[in-house]
Amino acid sequence: MRRIIRGLFILFSLFISLTIWAQPGWRTAPDITIPVVVHLVYHDAASIPSTASVQAQIDALNRDFNALNSDLAMVPEVYKNRVGNAHIKFALAKKDPSGKSSNGIVQKQTSIRIFSNDNRVKYSSRGGDDAWPREHYLNIWVCDLLSALKGYSSEIGDAAELDGIVINRLVFGGNNASTDHGLGRIAVHEVGHWLGLKHIWGDANCGDDGIDDTPPQQGYHIGCVQGTVFSCSNTTGDMYMNYMDRTNDACMNMFTLDQVAKMRSLFAVSALRNSLLAGEALADDGQALDPNWKRADAPAIQLVCYPVPANTEIRLQVTGSSAGSKTLVTGFRELVIYNSSGQPIRKLLNYVMGSSINVAGLSRGQYFIKASGEVLVGARFLKL
Ligand SMILES: [Zn+2]
Repeated sequence: MRRIIRGLFILFSLFISLTIWAQPGWRTAPDITIPVVVHLVYHDAASIPSTASVQAQIDALNRDFNALNSDLAMVPEVYKNRVGNAHIKFALAKKDPSGKSSNGIVQKQTSIRIFSNDNRVKYSSRGGDDAWPREHYLNIWVCDLLSALKGYSSEIGDAAELDGIVINRLVFGGNNASTDHGLGRIAVHEVGHWLGLKHIWGDANCGDDGIDDTPPQQGYHIGCVQGTVFSCSNTTGDMYMNYMDRTNDACMNMFTLDQVAKMRSLFAVSALRNSLLAGEALADDGQALDPNWKRADAPAIQLVCYPVPANTEIRLQVTGSSAGSKTLVTGFRELVIYNSSGQPIRKLLNYVMGSSINVAGLSRGQYFIKASGEVLVGARFLKL
């Protein structure tokens, strides 16, 4: 008899719709892929970086933003559990803003021998090369810079035409381990800035970088640091192996979990980098890109609860129509469970999609789970 009742419950719960159409809340795709355009601004044709060198730089970014670097093993024990994987990929664009096929590399000859950090390289009218729309591309300019200057990045809030990073030709690439900055990590550092990260020392004596899981440290480190170095009363030591310090490429190897969260937050709905998720510039389809295109037209997604029905735990999943990785949701900052009377009974923070939610303590009945602050994000579930 119990079995039959249970079976009926299952049928009943399959019958009611467990899915509703919903707008995603915290849109941070597991597979963010950023279309890249590299502007090679050169004075002497002999110094133009090769296509292989450009690809080596893209590979270096993909290695470090996906925690695929083999030197991750060098992270000190005390910081191993803080290592973050940004799950951000980079790919050379397949078309230019007008829709014309492109390999994502622009070569531009200039009369200027050495650039500085004055952004001149970003303007065709001043001897550089104009940015491609930041809604669709990460702009990387490569040129000869004053020798002490390895690279620099635009800051959040800068004008659109300045958006991107500039890398000294001498440290661009990523396949020259014999030099101090031959692993492509100047670009890793600058892309960190481009995604909102500050220097690990907060640009001040024991300054604050706004990131919780990086310790305060007095200043930056150069070269290769060994052992534990304490400063600013930190108890775990300076995190000189962080990409946002200034150590040699061979001696830096990690972002933290909170740095990753900060970077990925820039891809949330309405955030600065959200439009890149569409990856429009990665389709060689002849379609011109709209520089004002926004992701407000994001397609709806389907949020589901499983198993059906639930007993001790539930998990949330996004299924969805279209669009593969660009519309996937990896989690929600805040979820609220409501009972059948519409009263909130439990709040969950930082839910990662697919992880379990313990519902063993809930009494039998129907519930509704929803991301707070969002319009109609939610799914029903039945607790047995
Ligand atoms: Zn920096």
